[in-house]
Amino acid sequence: MIPFDFEYYRPESIASAIDTFQQLDTAEKQPMYYGGGTEIISMGRMNNLKTGAVIDLKDIADCKVMEFHQDQLVIGSSVTLTQIHEANLFPLLAQAGARIADHTIQNKITMGGNLCGTIIYKEAVLPLLLSDSLVSIAGPGGKRTIPINSIFKERMQLDKGEFVVQIKIEKQYLSCPYVHVKQTKQDKINYPLVTICAMSVGGGIRAAFSGVCDFPFRSTAMESELNNLALTLEERIDKAIALTPGLIPTNLEGSAEYRKFIMRGLLNSIINRLEGSNVSNA
Ligand SMILES: Cc1cc2nc3c(=O)[nH]c(=O)nc-3n(C[C@H](O)[C@H](O)[C@H](O)COP(=O)(O)OP(=O)(O)OC[C@H]3O[C@@H](n4cnc5c(N)ncnc54)[C@H](O)[C@@H]3O)c2cc1C
Repeated sequence: MIPFDFEYYRPESIASAIDTFQQLDTAEKQPMYYGGGTEIISMGRMNNLKTGAVIDLKDIADCKVMEFHQDQLVIGSSVTLTQIHEANLFPLLAQAGARIADHTIQNKITMGGNLCGTIIYKEAVLPLLLSDSLVSIAGPGGKRTIPINSIFKERMQLDKGEFVVQIKIEKQYLSCPYVHVKQTKQDKINYPLVTICAMSVGGGIRAAFSGVCDFPFRSTAMESELNNLALTLEERIDKAIALTPGLIPTNLEGSAEYRKFIMRGLLNSIINRLEGSNVSNA
């Protein structure tokens, strides 16, 4: 049971969603945008979150699309992980989403909710970082479209009242050779000890990580080392891991050393696969 009452709004346009947010904010309702509700409901139940009103984005046409516009695949923020997996238009994203929680929850989790939630893993962001995706955002200040690599710094850097409307991915990235690996402590369905998404683009390897630090990331400095063919494979991997852009935690799931051990093994296999063949997936 959710131990507090809240109002529920379901606007049908972007303008109405923003207007509703502003009115509720003025009324001190601490409004929240609502995607699949999996995090809002579970955190609400545990008293880790409180809101006086939610604004469900699911009836906004722009947030529901999943289609090609010229050379871009456009995915609305209310599209669920299951819809992305079933359409399979971006196989790496489809696969990353299919390893988040279980199938029932994937039917609810939305692209926007996974990107903007408070959970540290946000695994659906990894393919977007690798493919230099664009994010369309709307808010009281208007609409803007911005590279995800500019606005996702440990988390989405949204201004008050803004929400993610769509993700745009250039077609050229949809068919790049890729590898997705998720290592959990025990069960297949669990939070990641280490998740790596990697993609071969123009002969170079791009890699993005979740579970390694307390935020998901793609590091161009790490990629430079991974692609440094003057070094041995072992040196490339060790130098890349040394550039991890945050603290690698030691916790109940595993020690920092254990995570690095897993990273080494996974990166070794990823590089062998991407450099050894034209098409790859896991
Ligand atoms: C059992 C379980 C296991 C899970 N395991 C994993 C895992 O291993 N890896 C992983 O990455 N995730 C995992 N998740 C998913 C994660 O914890 C969140 O529940 C999920 O990503 C939230 O998506 P949602 O669409 O339900 O968002 P909601 O609960 O609707 O919203 C989450 C947050 O995002 C905001 N928000 C939603 N949509 C937008 C938008 N369009 N623009 C701006 N802000 C928005 C909301 O205001 C809220 O703050 C798991 C979830 C569960 C329940």
